[in-house]
Amino acid sequence: QDKEYLMIPGPTPVPPAVYAAMSRPVGGHRTDEFARLYMRIVEKLKKVFQTENDVFVLTNSGTGALETAVANTVSPGDKALALITGNFGERFAAIARAYGAELIELNFGYGNDVDLKAVEEKLNEHPDIKVVLATQNETSTGVCNDIAGIGALVARTPALLLVDGVSGVGAIEIKVDEWGVDILCTASQKAFMLPPGLAMVSVSEKAWQVVNGNRSPRFYFSLPACKKVYGKWNTPYTPSVTLFYGLEAALDMMLAEGLDNVYARHALLARATRAAVRALGLKLLAEDRCASNALTAVWGPEGVAADELRKIIKKQYGVAFAGGQGDVKGKIFRIAHMGFSDKMDVIIAISALEMALAQTGYPVQLGAGVKAAQEVFLGRE
Ligand code: PMP
Repeated sequence: QDKEYLMIPGPTPVPPAVYAAMSRPVGGHRTDEFARLYMRIVEKLKKVFQTENDVFVLTNSGTGALETAVANTVSPGDKALALITGNFGERFAAIARAYGAELIELNFGYGNDVDLKAVEEKLNEHPDIKVVLATQNETSTGVCNDIAGIGALVARTPALLLVDGVSGVGAIEIKVDEWGVDILCTASQKAFMLPPGLAMVSVSEKAWQVVNGNRSPRFYFSLPACKKVYGKWNTPYTPSVTLFYGLEAALDMMLAEGLDNVYARHALLARATRAAVRALGLKLLAEDRCASNALTAVWGPEGVAADELRKIIKKQYGVAFAGGQGDVKGKIFRIAHMGFSDKMDVIIAISALEMALAQTGYPVQLGAGVKAAQEVFLGRE
């Protein structure tokens, strides 16, 4: 097998220590040992989420976490305000629609972040909004939204704030309690450095009031079913036990590095990637003000199809970038720098990008992007 450099926004590279933890023989889940493991993981996740709320680890993907949030808070006919900044904001809205919500959509367009003024106006206009759906890190555009700002507006209303933090949490700081996030959803295969298969959610007291009286059908995604066994067996159904071994190892790595250092590392990698892209004369999708620290989205160069460029980079250099989705399908490529990712990953990515650009006939000065990234790393920009 050829060597691959996985630089897509999930799944992301898994550290050897996490693979090692997952290589142990699988154990039973109705044991004291698993119950202790679950609660240790919950305590560690509370540090990452900055919350005292209940935290659950669910065996499903990120979309399952989003569906859990919606199925437990949205009854048919409820008003849901969807703050859409790209493909994943659209998905969150689609889930609410599937559960019979009366949707109010604020669509800010691909590449833009949520405008707080518009949110405030909608909340004032519709005092009966039941849930607000927001995306912390919009993976399709590399835009990071102001969850603190949104949270401050929603906290003044009876509405719940449901946040998709699938590609943000663990790479970009989130303060669930301080910012008033009622349900936070995230997943294992991005900044948490695990294979896909686990989702993590936190549920506030304000949310429980709604969850318990909700009229939508729910079974596998029932939060009351999780709560019933919380602190006992913890998982109503058979969990992905092996991934739990890995999750504890990954959380230990993050806490040993120090969460502030984890976030600073992601910020540095993002800064270097953006400097490199600019030095090559390419355009970034997101403005610096709202650019994600977890991934960088880049417009394909004039006259070169973004997907063709990606194909060369993958086939000839083994570096996997992601393509565009939704409105920007085929027009952009995305470089992830999240999770188990460091300076030399950025250098490899940019160096492969430069060679592929040269091969397509784009007027590139070889080394210009790499140099710009190196200067950021050396603090000389
Ligand atoms: N939300 C966001 C912001 C995401 O990045 C993703 C995965 N790319 C999802 C939701 C969906 O997660 P999954 O593919 O694990 O269901």
